[in-house]
Amino acid sequence: MNNCNIKYIKDKMEFCKMPGGIMAMDIFVLINHSLHNEYPDTYKKNLRLVGREHLKPIIKNYINKRNTDKIKILKSLLEQIKILGLGTTKLLVINKHKFIVNLYKGTFPNQYKKLFGIQKECVDHFMCGIIEETFDSIFNKKSQVIEKICIAQGKKNCIFEITI
Ligand SMILES: [Zn+2]
Repeated sequence: MNNCNIKYIKDKMEFCKMPGGIMAMDIFVLINHSLHNEYPDTYKKNLRLVGREHLKPIIKNYINKRNTDKIKILKSLLEQIKILGLGTTKLLVINKHKFIVNLYKGTFPNQYKKLFGIQKECVDHFMCGIIEETFDSIFNKKSQVIEKICIAQGKKNCIFEITI
């Protein structure tokens, strides 16, 4: 873990050696990091739940629309990740039960890496929850979402594997 302190130099705040103060994404990264250290056994599950809850109102709106093409709904819902400012996604359909979601320019894992260095494990549990909720709602069954590789591990993009 890197030293990540809030310092005041004269009247200016410095956070994790970055001038200018704390941005919203930094706060989110910090919360994740503290939860990871404080509650290593439960934080992954809980952050997934937060991700799921976060997308629920958006999903409801989409499912209510007339479009019945599940893959189309899936793609436009995954587009929401970009609108939320979390990065860009690309969906790969492997078969009826297996999907891959690639996350490019993921703001959260990039910032995590910047603040706390290269991570051993994947860090996008919130994103797993968002993806899980998306698939569960569209296909009306319980999906399994696993983040296989992560930008926070120094990889180019995050790869999520979904089984329904
Ligand atoms: Zn990741």
